[in-house]
Amino acid sequence: MDPGEKILSKILSMDQMDGWVAAEKAAGRRIGFTCGSFDLLHAGHVQYLGAAHALCDRLLVAVNSDASVSRYKNPLRPIVPERERMYVVAGLAAVDAVTLMEEDRPLSLLLRWKPDVYIKGGDYAEDSLRSADAVKEYGGKVAVVKSDFETSSSKLMERIGVLGAHAVPDSALSQGVQGLVLLDRDGTLIRNVPFLHDPAKVEILQGVIDGLLKLQAAGLRLAIISNQQGIGLGYYTVQDFIAVNQRLLRELGARGVRISKIYFCPHSLAEQCSCRKPATGMIVRAMRDFGVTPERTFVAGDSDEDMQAGADAGCQTVRMAEKGFGPAAEQILSLLRAVE
Ligand SMILES: [Zn+2]
Repeated sequence: MDPGEKILSKILSMDQMDGWVAAEKAAGRRIGFTCGSFDLLHAGHVQYLGAAHALCDRLLVAVNSDASVSRYKNPLRPIVPERERMYVVAGLAAVDAVTLMEEDRPLSLLLRWKPDVYIKGGDYAEDSLRSADAVKEYGGKVAVVKSDFETSSSKLMERIGVLGAHAVPDSALSQGVQGLVLLDRDGTLIRNVPFLHDPAKVEILQGVIDGLLKLQAAGLRLAIISNQQGIGLGYYTVQDFIAVNQRLLRELGARGVRISKIYFCPHSLAEQCSCRKPATGMIVRAMRDFGVTPERTFVAGDSDEDMQAGADAGCQTVRMAEKGFGPAAEQILSLLRAVE
């Protein structure tokens, strides 16, 4: 069996797990059970699963489904999809079998398989007391394993977020920041696809790369401001939106273009928020974040909403010409020269 197959063979459906548990119990082996999201696997997980395995003969791990993680943890999580999280957990020597947990809490799985030991990681949360009581009721044991490591998935996320919020230091030779360009996304940087949510449909428009490189070289910072009513209407998710941006940033990055930040309005028109263009919310926030004045902020877009939002915020506005992004970039550069 190749290593990949061996890992996959540990991943079982609920029905398969029924058979696995019965066979292990029949062979006289003690089953240990634990569960979690295991989103960004770290040293604490590995230590905890190793300790859990030491408490039983066979360790069964139930991995929370994507939907359950979104529900009980954070609507933006998980980072890693369930199929891959299960694979990573199954790849650990301490783990003997893995299944997907659709529910937020393990109670029904505990009652289904009645493991000899139910192992909890870290803090003994209130809501797990009910599960623990149920385990004790059928004669099982409950064990809590504490981690020696400070790391957690949430702390890693925070660290990544903090790193992302820091500007990469400019090289000593480059010019100071001259201003900010706030770019509409759909119809300005990429071809306008109504309610775009498929990264494969990202198509950077003509002249965009060269134009952005020129703006960057002139000392302008680049950020995106985008209305995404499709999220508010339920046509696609924030995750879909992020996946599209990831594709766009990867393609721009490969050509040397750096987008510093992405502002988006996820609301529908009916929500009457202050961020959806032509409202000025995103622009005002961006100017504050970058510490630039309206005279040195250039709003580039293809719609009346973009132009009105820019004008209402007191910024300079540039509308995409039919000829593409190139002439718009030139116009921004001449506006920049005029304020110098
Ligand atoms: Zn909004």
